[in-house]
Amino acid sequence: MKLNDHNHIYYQNGQLQMEGVAVSELAKQYGTPLYLYSSSVIADNFNAYKNAAKSIPTMVCYAIKANSNLAILQALAKLGAGFDIVSGGELQRVLQAGGDASKVVFSGVGKTADEMALALEAGVHCFNVESDAELSLLSRVASQRGDTARISLRVNPDVDPKTHPYISTGLRDNKFGITFEQAPAVYQRAAGLPGIEIVGVDCHIGSQLTELAPFNDAVDRLLELIAELKAQGISLEHIDMGGGLGINYSGSEAPPTKSSYLAALESKLANTGLSLILEPGRSIVGDAGVLVTQVQYLKPTAHKNFAIVDAAMNDNIRPALYQAEQRIVSVTETSDAPVQTWDLVGPVCESADFIGKDRPLALTAGDYLAQLDAGAYCFGMASNYNTRARAAEVLIAGDDHWLVRERETFADLIRGEHLLP
Ligand SMILES: *Cc1c(COP(=O)(O)O)cnc(C)c1O
Repeated sequence: MKLNDHNHIYYQNGQLQMEGVAVSELAKQYGTPLYLYSSSVIADNFNAYKNAAKSIPTMVCYAIKANSNLAILQALAKLGAGFDIVSGGELQRVLQAGGDASKVVFSGVGKTADEMALALEAGVHCFNVESDAELSLLSRVASQRGDTARISLRVNPDVDPKTHPYISTGLRDNKFGITFEQAPAVYQRAAGLPGIEIVGVDCHIGSQLTELAPFNDAVDRLLELIAELKAQGISLEHIDMGGGLGINYSGSEAPPTKSSYLAALESKLANTGLSLILEPGRSIVGDAGVLVTQVQYLKPTAHKNFAIVDAAMNDNIRPALYQAEQRIVSVTETSDAPVQTWDLVGPVCESADFIGKDRPLALTAGDYLAQLDAGAYCFGMASNYNTRARAAEVLIAGDDHWLVRERETFADLIRGEHLLP
């Protein structure tokens, strides 16, 4: 039985497998909590974008904040990916992993002068400028270096992505981007600034979108703007539609496929002469990862059954932050215990510390569980709250696997701290 659209995460003889490896074996070898990633799923997802782009030159820039492990970036770089970054640190990760700076787009509302200089030095493809004030600083930094910054403006098309409010980014009320109304004036100003070369337009309307309509509305609005700019003598090379395509967290959602998404975009962009940039994050790595945890204690009460597991909100904050629901399955299907309804909670001292609620599972203390679709925005948002070490990360390819991030030690956790003399 397979658990998602890919063939790489499935049960065989009652054992959860990722590619050719039994999850329980890795849990024993590396301990828990543990992040496991399938490199085949990542490659399938990336190639699905690349292969779907048929008629328009398309650069797929993986949004590395979704999961910035160096080995994952390296694997994507080898497949020809570009990268969408939001900080100087992320740029350094791309370079460390062998990524090509000329395929990097630099997004983010708060770029500092130092980060701009670092990106100019590396030779990034484009800065996605998010405000008039940022444009002024970028012009100054670039011209002081005798450099030219290629830019697009991130425009806020004011469309409702119909997703969780914390991951809606293209509405008037959001902090991101330049309003649709202001955009032409900011482009005009950019055209006259030293050290600035206008190359594109950009938007990113939100994350975990499960419908095409908001993307279609956004592209329509950007095409309106592009026509208006053209009439004013400003012509663009590319349109960047950001990221945002959702994944099937519940097992019964049906987000648009990458090919239907690309087909919709290509039909709108046909005959415009524009090239396309995409910045997918979640839809590249989300369903490639699982978080493995072990049941520590069972604590049934008259009112509720709690299973205390060794993964917590510091390992995966999505349930607490976004009311996200990710499926949780047994790593070994055979259990003598009856199926009961459990809240799966962690050891952290917060009532928001849970990885799942009201889950029907057959549990015995010591069992391993796997939280599915944990490849995106899980490890990347992990913290050391409660002085908990961040989990180990393992990348699987075929029958092989590699430890791509060691579990943190106490020494790692206190590195850089000092007692008073
Ligand atoms: C987060 C982000 C992305 C990636 O979004 P996903 O929903 O993970 O695809 C792309 N572009 C920008 C600017 C972002 O902030």
